[in-house]
Amino acid sequence: MSTESLRIVWIYPDLLSTYGDRGNALILARRAQLRGMPAEVLEVRSDEKLPTTADIYLIGGGEDGPQALGAQRLIADGGLHRAVAQGSVVFGVCAGYQLLGTSFFAKGARCTGLGLLDISSDRGPIRAVGELAGEVDPRLGIPHLTGFENHGGRTHLGADVSPLARVTAGVGNDGTTEGAWRGKLLGTYSHGPALARNPALADLLLRWATGIHQLPALDDTWAERLRSERRAAVAAAARP
Ligand code: GLN
Repeated sequence: MSTESLRIVWIYPDLLSTYGDRGNALILARRAQLRGMPAEVLEVRSDEKLPTTADIYLIGGGEDGPQALGAQRLIADGGLHRAVAQGSVVFGVCAGYQLLGTSFFAKGARCTGLGLLDISSDRGPIRAVGELAGEVDPRLGIPHLTGFENHGGRTHLGADVSPLARVTAGVGNDGTTEGAWRGKLLGTYSHGPALARNPALADLLLRWATGIHQLPALDDTWAERLRSERRAAVAAAARP
């Protein structure tokens, strides 16, 4: 960790907070604090300079216009690139995931992304809205992913990234894979917010940020109850 306290930056709440993903910052801070690690969440608006020394950067979902503007401002700022070069963790959801790639579509136009992940996004035939579930890359050591998706984009992965999961329900990137990761950068289509629905994913980000491989276990009864309820609902919906 770069400071005494774990520093979590919530990027551009004025543009990329449409889908409730701010909850991811609360979950990370709470899970750190429950283990005795002080944590602070810094919200950085799109007219402010991004600090470059935080441990974890979170980018949420957003509509096309704010997504395009957010990408332009992040590129102009340059701070996220510097933070990544210094080893910070980045977690992007939906619009925040797409804009980490080389390009994405917004309002019918191709937009330049940050180029931090080897992915590019275009548009799908229909909007993907509903439950999203998948079997996670076993190297990440986390169980089944659950979430809610709401996006028009489809994402194509290059050779330099790995899919986060294989889709078992919903669309994700393209109906086959969901999300992507490389090093300490990870993106997903899962809202929900993702870290409330997938506590093990929150702990993965905390492990990456702190370098602590064995985090003390927490009582995740409520999250697990929600996960099993949603899995059962997805399975029931899939039955003929
Ligand atoms: N605007 C993007 C899309 O529709 C992202 C949407 C979102 O963040 N939920 O694909």
